[in-house]
Amino acid sequence: MQDQSVTIQTLERLTTEALSALESAADSKALESWHSAYLGRRGSVTQMLRRVGELPKEERPAFGRRANEIKVELEAAYEAQAGVIRAAEMEKTLAEGAIDVTLPGRPVARGRLHPSTQILRRIYQIWADMGFQIYRSRDVETDEYNFQLLNFPPHHPAREMQDTFYTTDEDVLLRTHTSPGQIRAMREAVAKNPDNPPPIRIALPGMCFRSEQITARSEVQFNQVEGLAVGIDITFADLKGTLVDFARRMFGQNARTRFRASYFPFTEPSAEMDVECFVCGGEGCSVCKQSGWLEILGCGMVHPIVLQNGGYDPRRYTGYAFGMGLERQLMLRYKIDDIRYFWGNDARFLEQF
Ligand SMILES: [Zn+2]
Repeated sequence: MQDQSVTIQTLERLTTEALSALESAADSKALESWHSAYLGRRGSVTQMLRRVGELPKEERPAFGRRANEIKVELEAAYEAQAGVIRAAEMEKTLAEGAIDVTLPGRPVARGRLHPSTQILRRIYQIWADMGFQIYRSRDVETDEYNFQLLNFPPHHPAREMQDTFYTTDEDVLLRTHTSPGQIRAMREAVAKNPDNPPPIRIALPGMCFRSEQITARSEVQFNQVEGLAVGIDITFADLKGTLVDFARRMFGQNARTRFRASYFPFTEPSAEMDVECFVCGGEGCSVCKQSGWLEILGCGMVHPIVLQNGGYDPRRYTGYAFGMGLERQLMLRYKIDDIRYFWGNDARFLEQF
């Protein structure tokens, strides 16, 4: 190059050569070599421009102007080619590197069951093992099924404990307990064989609603699981044996239980069952309020009026029923101090289970 004379013609020829060389630069490495060969500090175009002093004085301005134009033109061509090459190389990398089997996999975020669903399923399993069928009943009920047929006459004071949400349809409400399902299940069974209704062993799960002030201790909705057994010669001993067995399956073979007399309109006699505190083992702690016992469920022998309302003759049939709230059990088990977490949809809470 050094032996070339400095003229506009040689500059133009050099430019043509540079542009055609640029076109054949196929990757970024070739592109970089091209840049240093022509436009770099020691590049031929740069060198040529430096030799402007060799020209006769009158030719220098025209040469300088053209030289600057060429420099801009070559830089622009370089940038354009660099863009094309970058895009092509990116595409190639993506195509070739789509699966790098040596990389560890990205963890996939997996959903999990709500804690209430987890304990519900566990309880289903236990009752199913003990011969109870799951019976689903409606969430929306009538006053008749939710109260009257269960021996809560209008104005009965026990209704006070179960204030609920009413719809604009007269007497249509959100159920306050799963018990109306007892009447529906009994009536279905009776309809199949009115003269000789079959025995019943069912567990009734589901959401219940009460019009309560929402606080850390009370919510307007909660899950309940209820059980019903109806047949010939069913006694309170069957009730106790079944529930003690349930408690052992649920809380461990050594779980101790006790029954306390209680009152419910739809059972007579009625009781509450406590289980020995699974936090302190009966020693007394803050969870069991130092008593050593936790209240787990309410139960009793089905009231004759309820049997009759279900279509079973209380002179021939007897039965027992029990019901438990799930969220309270979970609160005891996991020391959850606020019931509002259950339906607050906060993933930080739900991910812990
Ligand atoms: Zn305790």
